[in-house]
Amino acid sequence: MQKETNDIDISIIIPCYNEEQNIPLLFEECQKTFDKQNINIEYIFINDGSKDHTFDAIKNIVLKNNNVIGLNFSKNFGKESAIYAGLNKSLGKYIAIMDADLQQHPKYVLKMFNYIIDNPEYDIITCYQAIRKEGKVISFFKKLFYKLINKISEIEFYENASDFRLFSRQVANSLLELKEYYRFSKGFFSWIGYNNYYMPYEVEERKFGKSSWSFISLIKYALDGIIGFSISPLKISTYIGFIAFVISIIYMIIVLIQKIFIGIDVDGYATIVCLILMFGSLQMIFIGIIGEYLGRVYIETKKRPIYIIKEEVKR
Ligand code: UDP
Ligand code: MG
Repeated sequence: MQKETNDIDISIIIPCYNEEQNIPLLFEECQKTFDKQNINIEYIFINDGSKDHTFDAIKNIVLKNNNVIGLNFSKNFGKESAIYAGLNKSLGKYIAIMDADLQQHPKYVLKMFNYIIDNPEYDIITCYQAIRKEGKVISFFKKLFYKLINKISEIEFYENASDFRLFSRQVANSLLELKEYYRFSKGFFSWIGYNNYYMPYEVEERKFGKSSWSFISLIKYALDGIIGFSISPLKISTYIGFIAFVISIIYMIIVLIQKIFIGIDVDGYATIVCLILMFGSLQMIFIGIIGEYLGRVYIETKKRPIYIIKEEVKR
């Protein structure tokens, strides 16, 4: 399925979850930024099952502007699904993904657009935070995540790369080919390849509301990334199993020699209890890891839609 492009230069995809207060401000900033630029822009706002009046805020903008599309999901499907819906709808020659909370200022969309026009050898421009404005603990775990995932997965993940990007229609079509239910866009962007340019940007404070990420949800997200893009965890049990097998053979020989030739009855109650506990729990962990993969296979085989649109508005 290849999409035709028309005279739209940039489609800006904006996933929104509880952003009623931010949306009017964001749109105002966008208009200020692109005013007099002579760039044809299409805005696609996706209301991802918000609990507030986000869709009313989107409708207000749609009423007054004919280059805005509003999609209303039937429930919360997650940012990744909202991005996919936006890609599906978009018609522009270039596509940008931007958060609704004004942390990512639209001036960088313009900057990315100008850069890709001047440097057509690039297919994807990705903004990264030159200076990370977040806590030391989160920052430490994020570093650890990138170290780990770059070690065990076959694709390269660029540290600090954000979801704030601009890319060509061809890239968008490649992303649309990835129809899996478990979506991890950092992984998708690495997996599809193409020529990437990383542009530093300064992240701003969220204007209203609060981030939907907790520490636990970040860990889940990291696990999704690791499981989605590497099968190394499945192999660990094989390696550990082999090592344990070799050690146990050596130990068995030692015990036999002691028993037959020296006549020592080995009393190793504590050792046995420890070994049973250790190997018992190791087996549980590895069954759990297999379960994680198996569960995903189960869900993926159902081929459920990535999102459901309840309502679509356009002037
Ligand atoms: N978002 C979404 N669905 C969700 C959670 C978030 O569409 O389930 C949107 C949210 O409205 C925002 C963007 O994704 O536009 C980034 O979310 P957030 O600001 O919570 O993340 P952070 O900036 O803290 O990484
Ligand atoms: Mg944010």
